Amino acid sequence: MTGNRGTAIVGSGPNGLAAAVTLARAGVPVTVYEAAETIGGGTRTAEVVEPGVLHDVCSAIHPTALATGFFRAFELEKRVGFSIPAASYANPLDKDGGSPDGRAAIAYRDLARTAEELGRDGKAYARLYAPILHRMEGAIDFAFGGSMLRFPRDPIAALVTGLATLEQGTPLWNLRFTEEAAPALVSGVAAHSIGRMPNLATSAVGVMLGALGHDRGWPVPIGGSRSIAEAMERDLIAHGGRIETGHAIDDVRELDGYTSVLFDTSARGLANIAGERLPARYVRALRRFRYGDGATKVDFVLDGPIPWSDPRVAESPTVHLGGSRAEAARAEAAVARGAHPERPYVLLAQPTRFDPDRNAPSKNAVWSYTHVPAGSTVDVTERVIAQIERFAPGFRDRITAVKTTTAAELASYNRNYHGGDFSAGAVTLPQLVARPTLSATPWRTPTKGLYLCSSSTPPGPGVHGLSGWYAALASLRTDYGLPAPDLGL
Ligand SMILES: Cc1cc2nc3c(=O)[nH]c(=O)nc-3n(C[C@H](O)[C@H](O)[C@H](O)COP(=O)(O)OP(=O)(O)OC[C@H]3O[C@@H](n4cnc5c(N)ncnc54)[C@H](O)[C@@H]3O)c2cc1C
Repeated sequence: MTGNRGTAIVGSGPNGLAAAVTLARAGVPVTVYEAAETIGGGTRTAEVVEPGVLHDVCSAIHPTALATGFFRAFELEKRVGFSIPAASYANPLDKDGGSPDGRAAIAYRDLARTAEELGRDGKAYARLYAPILHRMEGAIDFAFGGSMLRFPRDPIAALVTGLATLEQGTPLWNLRFTEEAAPALVSGVAAHSIGRMPNLATSAVGVMLGALGHDRGWPVPIGGSRSIAEAMERDLIAHGGRIETGHAIDDVRELDGYTSVLFDTSARGLANIAGERLPARYVRALRRFRYGDGATKVDFVLDGPIPWSDPRVAESPTVHLGGSRAEAARAEAAVARGAHPERPYVLLAQPTRFDPDRNAPSKNAVWSYTHVPAGSTVDVTERVIAQIERFAPGFRDRITAVKTTTAAELASYNRNYHGGDFSAGAVTLPQLVARPTLSATPWRTPTKGLYLCSSSTPPGPGVHGLSGWYAALASLRTDYGLPAPDLGL
């Protein structure tokens, strides 16, 4: 690209905004173009179910918001209030899941307490995570520090994280366990990433998110996910940046005159918008990048708390409702085959207790989603309700309003989520290494001044802003000859 209008950013998701803040802080004029009427991409909070009641539209819980590089440099913790409970996530169980008394498995920040409450498998569970937690900074760098092709800063941290991933991502996964609770806890978090289990990609996600749960915890942003987008928006405006909402970019020629353009779009979106400025071989690689299965969201308003069979589940903002490890694996295998499981894996967030001022006291806003085949239009509301009811008898009677957003609707809501895949590209081992192409700097395209900065690049999905940050640093260095700016308050 040539020009002197500074940098254009296409898309205002957390990665687009992180890129915008970084460039604006370095003194570059920045304009963000956002197709939707509001900013934030996957970090929006809105009246989803009924007027006056706020639900997070996409992300709700933020394991990566305080632990990873960009937000630490940006001092997000000083800009947004977070509630970080002692319990990070819970996995209710019933007699079908090997827990006759309905006792749930709970992951606390405190690993020793977690192990103690897990019973016989507690020690084996603690031994899975303890080596990673001892070298947590190195493990975070390994998972989030950039392209998978670079040499890890702490090779021992990479090794212990890799070994845990290998064990939990292969048929060896039950070797260390004798009961149901501990393996269910591990699989419940691995299933954040959609795909058959055991597999190395879901295991990698599960091991790292699990370690964060036992380290810094899983924070709930006060006011909802949009507080994070708004903090970046404020900083961007304070440093001279601009945001144009309701302005989709469909052709890169519209952005002639900018020195660089960063795309917070999917890899396919980049090919569609800028294909004619990119080498044909690279465009083919972008088009080969695969999208995964999708999510269907089911949000509720309740007139009181969820009546969990195990009351300790109420202490955890995130709840994994997949039952036992075997059952969660069966549900995920069904989705991979293109089916809608009768007993689906449901990921539920109950932020009300941890952010009580978000809504009126009589309105308990509950957020959930389940995995479905790509592009699904099937209404799974009843199956999701039945799955919650299994572990919280009486849940159904508390529902005063419900809103379901199918995977197909999610795809029209955000053009990065092809078929409802909110990772903007399937999370598979090959696509973790080559995301979207095999490169030490995958944010850079072969064309000078054009960058991809969405979760179609490393480190992949999640609200961390890292893809945007890495792309912005590459543009600063290459297009402006500028060093990384100070992002702190
Ligand atoms: C239901 C759901 C639940 C989730 N839960 C969590 C969670 O609890 N915790 C977590 O960390 N993550 C969660 N995620 C994932 C997280 O939201 C995403 O990984 C993250 O938002 C990706 O950020 P991004 O900036 O790459 O893209 P996005 O957030 O998707 O933003 C991309 C933006 O670009 C805009 N755009 C795209 N194309 C164009 C164009 N051509 N012109 C102009 N604008 C364009 C889009 O409108 C969008 O606003 C969830 C996602 C979903 C959908």
